[in-house]
Amino acid sequence: MTHQVSKGSKQAFDPEFIESIRRKLARTTISHFINGEFAEGERGEKFETLEPSNNRPLAEVYRGHEEDVNKAVAAARRAFDNGPWPRMKAKERRKHLLRVGELIEEHRDELAVLECLDTGQVFRIIHGMQVPRAAENFRFFAERALEAMDGRSYPVDDEFLNYSIRTPVGVAGLITPWNTPLMLETWKLAPALAAGDTVVLKPAEWSPLSAWFLGRIFQEADLPPGVVNIVNGFGEEAGAPLVAHPDVQLITLTGETTTGSIVMKNGADTLKRFSLELGGKSPMLVFDDADLDRALDAVIFGIFSLNGERCQANSRLIVQGTIYDEFLERVVERARNVRVGHPLDPDSEVGPLIHPDHLSNVLKYVEVGKGEGELLVGGERVGDEGNYLAPTVFAANNEARIAQEEIFGPVLTAMSFSDEEDALRQANDVRYGLASYVWTRDIQRALRVGHKIEAGGTWINAQNVRHLPVPFGGVKDSGIGREGGDFSFDFYTEFKNVCVPLRDSRIPKYGMGDGHH
Ligand code: NAD
Repeated sequence: MTHQVSKGSKQAFDPEFIESIRRKLARTTISHFINGEFAEGERGEKFETLEPSNNRPLAEVYRGHEEDVNKAVAAARRAFDNGPWPRMKAKERRKHLLRVGELIEEHRDELAVLECLDTGQVFRIIHGMQVPRAAENFRFFAERALEAMDGRSYPVDDEFLNYSIRTPVGVAGLITPWNTPLMLETWKLAPALAAGDTVVLKPAEWSPLSAWFLGRIFQEADLPPGVVNIVNGFGEEAGAPLVAHPDVQLITLTGETTTGSIVMKNGADTLKRFSLELGGKSPMLVFDDADLDRALDAVIFGIFSLNGERCQANSRLIVQGTIYDEFLERVVERARNVRVGHPLDPDSEVGPLIHPDHLSNVLKYVEVGKGEGELLVGGERVGDEGNYLAPTVFAANNEARIAQEEIFGPVLTAMSFSDEEDALRQANDVRYGLASYVWTRDIQRALRVGHKIEAGGTWINAQNVRHLPVPFGGVKDSGIGREGGDFSFDFYTEFKNVCVPLRDSRIPKYGMGDGHH
């Protein structure tokens, strides 16, 4: 069977609802959100955001530059230095943030349509998982802040008491990618705000719509002006001045590894604190004693859900030689049956890639892969418009570029290993270290191997499930620092130590002349 795009034979919503959103977008220019108001770009320049299923313009967007960033940072600074937000009782902040969560739920349908149209991600994931997750981000961090903002105490004998308190840091710059914009933006916004910081968000240029809608939600939730500011635009034009701005203390970036290095360099002069969540090329090891039916489900879901545009995708499948042929045959069969379709068709499992430029990059890798390995299934575009690519599986070896470089599309590279040592060697022989997955019924081996894989996280006999309290981040070229749970609060707060003597301690006397030391 060759793939065909399901042409929205089924629709998630009444077509009139979707059309009304399209019409509204066609009439609106997506603006920045500064000091609690929607704001036009200072230079008046605009760009278009495209609909990945047909590459037609979906909306015009103000293209932000330094002037817009300066306005946004000034608003955030004022809100931090003089506004109520950092001074508010934590319980009050919690109330506002819980309201944001509620409003996300209330607007779930419209947010889901915007996100599906803008990113090409499919309805079942966006409506079913990501919009609820965005609301949960606000609920979780709002509640968690009440405890996570606690300090610690360090008594020193009975002479001194040291205690530490957490304070908000200042203005946080949040820079996000296009693959799952709403989920990633809320993952950063919620803890930053719960900690009492004020923020300037720079959403990805290919997917600005859900952030724009959040502006409306922040107004509805009565957030004080300047607490959240959003500037649209391109990385070099709107992201770079945010990173270099002296009034911004924190930069959290989720994006490519090369962007991470550029951003660090640009933030060095103003000594930014960074959290960098970067690229990945994550291994999944399948041993011959694993529950192969479940492992198969996990391979397919992990690489093809989110259109393969998932930072933690198991894009390197490393299978024990004894079962390699048989298991690969099943992987190929399932890949062939993955439903490629319109993002708003509830049956679709894979939608179009975000942008024609990204599709063309992924297709370049497909060509590279044909020279380096064996194309087992997919590799071709699907349909006559939009950025659809058939789920693709290659067999190659670990030195191949398609086994080493992040493709960020529905492309799986499979290889085989001989024994545990070989499995680990191949798993770690890559510059990235974001996620990893181990499938075996031997629990000792699972833990042994899991602990030794160089990655920010390992899932054992599990698909990529993410829980909000756990540390999230990468090692090697996949990033610096951890976010998630209390780790987010470590990033978004300052620890301040206070030292108090419990009795008059001896203070060395200087300047008293001879004999008084
Ligand atoms: P990207 O690095 O091109 O862009 C990310 C963001 O950085 C965008 O908002 C962009 O405008 C901005 N940016 C680009 N250059 C900049 C500069 N010089 N200064 C300031 N900002 C700049 O990444 P992308 O293509 O949008 O997203 C895909 C990448 O994101 C992949 O590498 C993927 O693995 C990674 N990602 C990582 C995680 C994670 O948690 N580790 C999650 C999702 C995506």
